[in-house]
Amino acid sequence: MSDEMKNNIERSDNREVFNLPTAVLPGYAIFPGSFALVDLTPKNEEAFSEALKGDKLAFVVSSEPTAKKGVLSEKLCSIGTVVRVTGITKSERDKKIKSARMESLFRARIEKNYAEKEDGILFSRVVRCTETNDLSDKEQIAYKITIMNALSEYSKNIGSLFGGFLKICVATEKIGPLCDFVAANIKILPQARQQLLETLDVRSRADKLIESIRAFIEVNGLEEEIEQKLQSRIEKHQREYQLREKMAVIAEELGDGDNMALEAQRYRKAIEESGIPEQYTTKLYRECDRLVKMSSVSPDASVIRGYLESCLSLPWNSSTKDKTNISAARKKLDRDHYGLEEVKTRIIEQLCVYTLTGNTNAQILCLAGPPGVGKTSIARSVAEAMGRKFARISLGGVKDEAEIRGHRRTYIGSMPGRIISALISAGTNNPVILLDEVDKMGYDHKGDPSTALLEVLDPEQNNTFTDHFIDIPFDLSKVLFITTANNKNDITPPLLDRMEVIDIVGYTFEEKCQIAKRHLIKKQAAKHGLKPANLKISDKALQTIIEGYTREAGVRALEHRIASICRKAATQTVENGTEKFSISPQKVAELLGPAKYKSEQPERTSEVGVSNGLAWTAVGGELLKIEVAVLSGTGKVSLTGSLGDVMKESAMAAITYIRSRSESLGIDSSFYEKNDIHIHVPEGAVPKDGPSAGVTIATAIASALMGVPVRADVAMTGEVTLRGRVLAIGGLREKSMAAYKNGIKNVIIPSANSTDIEETAPIVKENINFITAENMDTVLENALDYSLYSKRALPADEKNAIAA
Ligand code: ADP
Repeated sequence: MSDEMKNNIERSDNREVFNLPTAVLPGYAIFPGSFALVDLTPKNEEAFSEALKGDKLAFVVSSEPTAKKGVLSEKLCSIGTVVRVTGITKSERDKKIKSARMESLFRARIEKNYAEKEDGILFSRVVRCTETNDLSDKEQIAYKITIMNALSEYSKNIGSLFGGFLKICVATEKIGPLCDFVAANIKILPQARQQLLETLDVRSRADKLIESIRAFIEVNGLEEEIEQKLQSRIEKHQREYQLREKMAVIAEELGDGDNMALEAQRYRKAIEESGIPEQYTTKLYRECDRLVKMSSVSPDASVIRGYLESCLSLPWNSSTKDKTNISAARKKLDRDHYGLEEVKTRIIEQLCVYTLTGNTNAQILCLAGPPGVGKTSIARSVAEAMGRKFARISLGGVKDEAEIRGHRRTYIGSMPGRIISALISAGTNNPVILLDEVDKMGYDHKGDPSTALLEVLDPEQNNTFTDHFIDIPFDLSKVLFITTANNKNDITPPLLDRMEVIDIVGYTFEEKCQIAKRHLIKKQAAKHGLKPANLKISDKALQTIIEGYTREAGVRALEHRIASICRKAATQTVENGTEKFSISPQKVAELLGPAKYKSEQPERTSEVGVSNGLAWTAVGGELLKIEVAVLSGTGKVSLTGSLGDVMKESAMAAITYIRSRSESLGIDSSFYEKNDIHIHVPEGAVPKDGPSAGVTIATAIASALMGVPVRADVAMTGEVTLRGRVLAIGGLREKSMAAYKNGIKNVIIPSANSTDIEETAPIVKENINFITAENMDTVLENALDYSLYSKRALPADEKNAIAA
């Protein structure tokens, strides 16, 4: 042992302990008893320079990469080698790289690593390892022969070893150093190198060495095989590609634009760049191959073209980046739409949930309400607020499942379904898609489109939605679906179950005025090439348009009327150069012709046998008058006015109820034998149905028989049973709105609907007095106007009281 080395040693319990600057070589072990040249990193250079300053000793240790929670780090191996550094030189291969020369001395085990200061040179406290060797002399010879045999096999398979290598091996007698020498100078798998370094028992080291040599020969053989296979595949591909390119170029040179090879080649390129998942492109390439063999005018070729074009125009990879600024979204919704507070709040809530979860599909919004209340335009605003593209699919009248899911390509004239078409027109894979009028879908023998739609809306299934035509799964999970319906009760229950319904009731007169002033006039003026500032429509004129020319829950007809005023104004601008227009009520009549509807509320008078019912139709609520005439006759009952079966039955139930109560109502109990009763619901051409007119019919009949008028400012709704109980109805929001619009002051509703009053529009709650009724007695008490009747036919109790 040299003097320098002694300085570094602490001796205790016969252990040799060193504190040495340490160089880390990732994945590379250095074996004792050899000379090595190591390329330097800046850190290692510092360590070796430090060694050169003192006794020239350094510790070299390999490291293994470890990955913890996705973060890569290096872990030092426990055993390394103590080396004597002989110098640092510039590498001969590349002058920028420095390398250190060293003589490796012996194995040592790390006890502790430390750096004197942060980012300083790494030092290790290491202990020299002692080998164990229990080999007998004969065994030594046997091992040596085996190792030599393995080496000759190695040189046969991998390549010759450097001159003198075998001679040194033969000359090395001890097996331990022989193993080290061999391991240091031949190629073996990197993990095997470190294992050999760490094996202190000579017998095991020799076993491992022989094993490693054989393993390397085997792996090398496999590698070559794979390489060859790949090479031949690439060559085949290359050849095919070159041939196709040649064919295409020849076709181009000959000016043969129709050439199918050229066309197929164009499709192939497009498929390559399309982003279609690789497992499905083979199918498309096969179609290209088929195309080559066809005549360019054959019908089959155009089917294939149609198919490839559809597949290629689908937005496989293109998407827009979502805007997640909620307050900007709220501003956008407020800017585009007047009122609709509840709808906007619910939409913002949904957007917040989406921002947190990133899942657009959790709950599908359904905007339910009459036409023209802004369902479509709200959905469009949502798309704009999120920075997404927008597409609309109209489902009204769709009966065939294939409309949603496409036709199989075997059908003549087959096409992709509407979902895929909408995605193609949107051009991104995360648009907002509006499914309009889901309540108007039908079904026939060709299948039920609502089941296909269920799959589209189901987050569990829609990431692999497969259109029959395209026949390659497309991921719909990023699409935001919004649906609309006029009547949510017509939506099939499984679909309704997937949806969160937001009701939009019609607008009041005041709201319509505001919407026109803030949005519709400006929009239509701009659309017709007029400056919005140049078109003034006075409040009175607006009122004339709304009351005289529209009758609707929404504002679509109002918008059309404003559009026709703009059209007339545009004509005048072109013809006479007029630029400024101010529209007064008289001007409205001039431009739009005579009013279609009477603008004032008709004077309401209480009449005998006429009662106000409330109906709920697709265009919102409506006031429905019911007329009853009692004539002398033979007990016939006639019902007219396009009444449905359910309405007829409820009229019969009302008559039976009145018969059973004739005595207490003061009616001649044999009225049904001596009189004919005619029940008519005006606007006879409009079909009407439903049980909720029960109380209205019963009231009209009672009024006609008793001769007591029904109060004109009362409207009512409710189903009636034979025993006079009043049962719950639906659509109170719309019905009460209709009552308000018609100037009704009191609305009688079933007691069971009393909780729905809270949900009616604020303006309705302010202006309407709701009367809840458990049974017909309460209805009659509030509906019949005894004060207008002098020769009164009082209910029986009262009659008795007077007699007394
Ligand atoms: P829907 O889809 O309910 O039948 P639309 O969305 O097509 O109705 O609306 C018809 C027209 O009325 C559109 O031009 C829309 O912008 C306008 N509109 C409806 N409600 C409002 C509102 N609250 N504020 C502004 N414009 C509205």
